[in-house]
Amino acid sequence: RFLAGDAQAAGALEVIGIRKDFESFSALRDVHLRVNPGEMLCFLGPSGCGKTTLLRIIAGLETQTAGQILQNGKDVSWLPPDQRDYGIVFQSYALFPNLTIADNIAYGLVNGKVRKAEIKTRVEELLKLVGLPTSGAKYPSQLSGGQQQRVALARALATRPGLLLLDEPLSALDALERIRLRGEIRRLQRQVGITTIMVTHDQEEALSMADRIVVMNHGVIEQVGTPMDIYERPATPFVADFVGKVNVLQGYALGGNLFRVGDMDLQCDACDSGFEPGEAVNLYLRPEDRMVENLAHDTPNRLRVLVTKVEFLGGLCIAEVTADALHGQSMGLHFSLNQLHDLDIREGNRIDIALRANRIRAFCSRTA
Ligand code: ATP
Repeated sequence: RFLAGDAQAAGALEVIGIRKDFESFSALRDVHLRVNPGEMLCFLGPSGCGKTTLLRIIAGLETQTAGQILQNGKDVSWLPPDQRDYGIVFQSYALFPNLTIADNIAYGLVNGKVRKAEIKTRVEELLKLVGLPTSGAKYPSQLSGGQQQRVALARALATRPGLLLLDEPLSALDALERIRLRGEIRRLQRQVGITTIMVTHDQEEALSMADRIVVMNHGVIEQVGTPMDIYERPATPFVADFVGKVNVLQGYALGGNLFRVGDMDLQCDACDSGFEPGEAVNLYLRPEDRMVENLAHDTPNRLRVLVTKVEFLGGLCIAEVTADALHGQSMGLHFSLNQLHDLDIREGNRIDIALRANRIRAFCSRTA
């Protein structure tokens, strides 16, 4: 556990009431956030939501209009970047092309007046840590993009910072390398135990890497939660829509846990029962939240649907279905390839399904 002691001792970060105005435009509005020691937090959101601006304010690369940043209880809000305790990795690897890999990694240590022998040992350890033990004498141009990003990671960790900031570190890599490095960064982050914030617009990246995800939209935080929380219990229509795929059915509340969609009364056990009867709602349902096997006559939310399209994606297939009972509103549902064959799910066929009552979420359609 190479850096664990130092890194875990430092860590927690608090973002208090951060606002950022660019002239009349507010990129961040009263953002509050607490980062736990040792956790991997992802800022996730669409382009322009303010995630990079927030990371840059934490790094001191951008000045906040209002609010505070505390690191380990210490107010760092007005410290210049070089007096804050973090390492950072950017999308473009930003290595020095004329320095060897070893010298790139040692860069922050040389300036920090660490002894030569100690630097050499540390660089060797870091090269091993990022899986490049024999590349120290090479130059950046001799490495692949993924390898260069590993070097950038090693460089960011070299000074044993209390915080690691990653700004879309995988965006410039090809799909395969991205997935490989995703796992590598996660392993390394756990091994080192360093508090980490990563910016990404890629929900799969956030779901697979984060301990907690901060979903942002239009300069505000919509939800903070574990990947499972965010996916299974989205707090807002935006989160339900942005993270994962979702079907939206329009209807209205009947009272209690019942909602009318078209001619159907849908039972919705996960929904807030605080809707006024007659209130317009949007019901959100994930494509996998349907049952097709062992349906009893009285299974709730059972309906006959017409398959209008089947998209074959390998083991997982997506069937587009409509139902007269839903007044023609369509849904995309996931089926395994085996189910596709066993239940003869193909275009033009009708099948019986049931929408999972404990998975449907309702949001008032005025806020949706
Ligand atoms: P992306 O993934 O596209 O970078 P983001 O969520 O990281 O998106 P930011 O880069 O933080 O978004 O930008 C948030 C908003 O602030 C955007 O609308 C952007 O146009 C605006 N913005 C960012 N920097 C400046 C600037 N220097 N001057 C004016 N507006 C800016």
